[in-house]
Amino acid sequence: MAVDPGRRAMVLIVGAIAALAAAQASAIDHLVLQRGEGTVGLDGRTMIVAQDGSVMFQTRDGTIWLVAADEVQGLSSDETPFRPFTKEQIAARLLAELPAGFDVYQTSNYVICHSTSRGYAQWCGALLERLEMAFTNYWTRKGFALAKPEFPLVAIVFAEKKAYADFSRPEVGEGAESVVAYYSLRTNRITMYDLTGVEAGGNANARRGSAAQVNRILAQPAAAPTVATIVHEATHQIAYNCGLHARYSDCPLWFSEGIAMYFETPDLTSSRGWRSIGQINTMRLRHFRDYLRRRPADSLATLLGEDRRLRDSSSATDGYAEAWALTYFLAQQKPKEYVEYLRTLSRKAPQRWDEPATRLAEFKEAFGYDLEQLESDFLRFFAKLR
Ligand SMILES: [Zn+2]
Repeated sequence: MAVDPGRRAMVLIVGAIAALAAAQASAIDHLVLQRGEGTVGLDGRTMIVAQDGSVMFQTRDGTIWLVAADEVQGLSSDETPFRPFTKEQIAARLLAELPAGFDVYQTSNYVICHSTSRGYAQWCGALLERLEMAFTNYWTRKGFALAKPEFPLVAIVFAEKKAYADFSRPEVGEGAESVVAYYSLRTNRITMYDLTGVEAGGNANARRGSAAQVNRILAQPAAAPTVATIVHEATHQIAYNCGLHARYSDCPLWFSEGIAMYFETPDLTSSRGWRSIGQINTMRLRHFRDYLRRRPADSLATLLGEDRRLRDSSSATDGYAEAWALTYFLAQQKPKEYVEYLRTLSRKAPQRWDEPATRLAEFKEAFGYDLEQLESDFLRFFAKLR
């Protein structure tokens, strides 16, 4: 999942793009916008000004703002170059924004704001850095060179699930309690809570644990599905920050979720590698096999052409399982074509939405498959897979 509360607001901009500002634009822009009774001033860079006057704007912390035309009070620019905030600047702002009781723990790529023990933050930092390295190595070996993140990567880690849910509800909605972690396309952050409280059955001593103690608790097989959620959301964050996808672009959901699921299996045993990349995701495979018993004939057409099945909670489990299965099949059987398709999707600009027919045509162009042939090869592959 990648939480995307701005999707509806973006309709304002679709189809009416007047100017696409270059992402590398050197000057800093100043946007004044109406919020409630007052105004808010933002420094950053203008990404899009739509014909109707609505604006897509990125501030120096990496947050993307979608501002309706009637909220825009002024937009100007000066000669100061645009620079992302440093880790220290981001940390200071986060501490001012978050409730009391948070500390900062930094790693090479991450700013981790935590109300947990320092040991838990260290455990998160080590996991995230190792994932970032494994992810980068994986794609580089496949011939897709990743960029270093332009903005420091932010993770917010709450000690208590309730405080996490209260903080997340405005963005995630009423189901915040049931979401273990999420990546926000708007703020570019991942947010989560201390899982040792859950996995140790509420044992309060675990919360004061060192990174090694945390790892002992979370390396138990029973903890794997919850740890997988952190890895999944962190994979989204890396993918959107290292050039695999552009935020608010029309990367098909089966594809971005497929990548997150391809990487999500935790590997807490090694301190360097990540041996579980591309292994069979047993949970997704089990769901997919279950889905096969009632799978409609147009299943691949709806998966490739639309995002609906993954967004709708009633069909999401099946949709995600099939997205994983298709990703696994293509990565194994068509690895070169898969990377070329990734290259095509990575170039998609924000706020341009494709029709299902365009998506299907691009897929066919990349893999040479029409739907009938794909269907038969895909099903035969999984019938044989042990
Ligand atoms: Zn996801």
